[in-house]
Amino acid sequence: MDVFQLKDKNIVVMGVANERSIAWGVAKKLLEAGANVIFTYRKERSKGKIEKVLAAYSENNTSIVECDVNSDESIAKAFNEIGEKYGVIHGLVHSVAFAHAEDLHNRFVETTREGYAFAQDTSSYSLIAVAKAARPFMTEGGSIVTMTYLGAQRVLDGYNVMGVAKAALEATTRYLAYDLGAEGIRVNAISAGAIRTLAAKGVPSFNTILHQIEEKSPLRRNVTNEEVANMTLVMLSHLSSGVTGEVTFVDSGYNIIG
Ligand code: NDP
Repeated sequence: MDVFQLKDKNIVVMGVANERSIAWGVAKKLLEAGANVIFTYRKERSKGKIEKVLAAYSENNTSIVECDVNSDESIAKAFNEIGEKYGVIHGLVHSVAFAHAEDLHNRFVETTREGYAFAQDTSSYSLIAVAKAARPFMTEGGSIVTMTYLGAQRVLDGYNVMGVAKAALEATTRYLAYDLGAEGIRVNAISAGAIRTLAAKGVPSFNTILHQIEEKSPLRRNVTNEEVANMTLVMLSHLSSGVTGEVTFVDSGYNIIG
């Protein structure tokens, strides 16, 4: 049975840097479900990695488009290209975040005005910017899913300015859900547990966090990329048709522990 009913749907996936990326886990599942997947990348290196991981898949249902979320011009160019080629966008996965390394290593109180603005722009405002660009092509309604982290709601050592950006991202999810709901566009966030990716390498306390989850979470283990992808597919599909503006944790239940 085709549970997700995502066959032939056009889904934009932003944020594959390599085969460990959360976005790649999602894209793999989407391809298995028969969706057309449009990958966006910033660095040429990421484009190369996407081409490499796609080598085993048919080229007929994939595209790769450049999109730097710090640039309105780049976003407009990318989505116009996608819109022209596909006509309709059914779903968008925003799996993009960045902060300056020094803002994760220094004391939080040392955060600079520029570092704060940069983390917000890249990791939170970018959701508004891409929703605005995708909206004209979401003519059949749609689903937007972003990736957040517990550091938005609790203090996690070393997550610093990124925690503040994720808090803004979660609020942005709610405001976008309200604003776009009348057009049948749903907006949700997945709060993923710790997963060893390129971005995670930038968080100084990452190994400690992995151990703590193994010790203290209800499931006594870390989540897999595949588990995050499965929930993302639920959020992209008709299975979650009554859900919008939510932050759903896929974290072995770690967030409920006091
Ligand atoms: P990755 O490093 O694999 O992915 C991060 C992606 O962000 C990269 O593809 C990178 O592209 C992209 N990116 C950064 N800046 C820009 C920009 N200006 N324009 C376009 N793309 C940009 O790490 P993850 O898969 O871990 O991260 C994906 C999301 O999941 C992030 O939002 C992260 O905060 C979140 N998350 C991760 C967790 C984890 O433990 N790993 C836990 C909870 C949430 P490029 O390399 O081409 O610049």
